[in-house]
Amino acid sequence: MTYREFYEYGKQKLQAAGIAEAALDARLLLEYICRTDRNELIVHGDRERSDLEEAFYKTVIGKRASRIPLQYITGEQEFMGLSFRVNEHTLIPRQDTEILVEEAMCHLSDGMRILDMCTGSGCILLSLLQYSNECEGVGIDLSGEALKVARENAERLQIDATFLEGDLFSPFEKNASGNGEAETLEPDRTAHRLFDMIVSNPPYIETAVIDTLMPEVREHEPLCALDGREDGLYFYRRIAAEAPCYMRRGAYLIFEIGCDQGDAVVSLMQAAGFAQIEVFKDYAGLDRVVCGVKE
Ligand code: GLN
Repeated sequence: MTYREFYEYGKQKLQAAGIAEAALDARLLLEYICRTDRNELIVHGDRERSDLEEAFYKTVIGKRASRIPLQYITGEQEFMGLSFRVNEHTLIPRQDTEILVEEAMCHLSDGMRILDMCTGSGCILLSLLQYSNECEGVGIDLSGEALKVARENAERLQIDATFLEGDLFSPFEKNASGNGEAETLEPDRTAHRLFDMIVSNPPYIETAVIDTLMPEVREHEPLCALDGREDGLYFYRRIAAEAPCYMRRGAYLIFEIGCDQGDAVVSLMQAAGFAQIEVFKDYAGLDRVVCGVKE
């Protein structure tokens, strides 16, 4: 089969499976299998390809037709101009999340200490570290499998970061005097200083809504990275309440939120004593990020 025949085959299979971006995904998977780029179809579309490539291409088209997200097949997603490894243990980085990173960058200075709560693939933390100088970064996630991916991403991008496994702030402990200074449990000793910034894109979808999501998300992305419990606000509630113990005065707490959660998350942050709380919109004009300062 020629390259173009591969492409037509893939496009038709994905269309028949009801994949929205059938043509695009057929082309991207072809480029992934044949290690080509978009010029190949235009310039060398009539070239015969090997039987091995045909077999591999048919396999990945079959996977995509079964609604496995493209990024889990190719194993990567671009975010903030960087390439991140992803797998079924990590959420696929979303373009909307770049709004969170950009807002965080506005408040980031050299040498700051950043905590990324629910770090997943590490895309937020590693982007912030990549585009700043001498900052120190800690990422926490409940999923050890996700942290393997985050550590691989740090290594590939040659960025120093510390990744800790645990339920929100559990890898740290408050010191006995109760004065709000954070101390860390062994074996990690990196958290005895307070953070200058905490960023988080926690799971925020209401449990009842998860069934209505597209199959790619519902059946293939990790449920624990999506499910924000009954009202979707479980993690904001806990993080907003616990974060101040780990932040210096004037430090920023910056959340990504679901588009209908702005008022609720602002209230939670007010109740936790945060000041200068602001909501920022995404490119679709929807509420996407909430930022506040510890007084
Ligand atoms: N912080 C990661 C991301 O934004 C993971 C988020 C999550 O698991 N909810 O992609």
